[in-house]
Amino acid sequence: TAFSKLGLDDTIAFAVQKMGYNDPTPIQAQAIPVVLAGGDVIGSAQTGTGKTAAFALPIIQRLGGHGKLRCLVLEPTRELALQVEEAFNKYILFTDLRTTVVYGGVGYGKQRDDLSRGIDILAATPGRLLDLMEQGDCSLADVEILVLDEVDRMLDMGFLPDVKRIVQQCPKARQTLFFTATLPPEIASLAGWALTNPVEIKI
Ligand code: AMP
Repeated sequence: TAFSKLGLDDTIAFAVQKMGYNDPTPIQAQAIPVVLAGGDVIGSAQTGTGKTAAFALPIIQRLGGHGKLRCLVLEPTRELALQVEEAFNKYILFTDLRTTVVYGGVGYGKQRDDLSRGIDILAATPGRLLDLMEQGDCSLADVEILVLDEVDRMLDMGFLPDVKRIVQQCPKARQTLFFTATLPPEIASLAGWALTNPVEIKI
């Protein structure tokens, strides 16, 4: 399929075909090969462009083995965190990877239990993630791939200090994918600090 040509394995291309996607969107065509090769990405793309699959599909292929939190996706809102987890759940259908999602405004019990079950991919909002980390329910020590999604919105919502603390808790040797609709100086400087030799993708 057109997705296999970007370097995706058959198991993933098959899940994508089951979703009814025939052709990659522009951000998918540009980002998937870079992410598969292990590169950092700074992508200027909005919701609705197929951005989620652009990072989720190659991430799933890169996460070998399972049982440790190796991919963290930060989102500004609970709705977006839920949507991203739902998208990952569709694409991991033929793998043994597991996902969960944490966000504020609800009790800790279920999220704590979910985290204790050995998940591979976590979608999270910054404040709740920090709370769970402080309480010893979540460690970022094994994170291999960090996705900072909707960064401009996270900054608008005042999450810059939280995002920085979270990035600092991830291993330095990691792959970082950074998505934002706009790139004012404050965001460019955060990207410069969090990313290593990023490939810039604008759509
Ligand atoms: P996103 O920009 O990630 O929020 O995705 C927007 C919508 O496009 C979602 O409903 C996806 O399921 C859908 N989508 C993503 N990639 C493709 C594709 N290659 N072909 C058709 N639909 C897609």
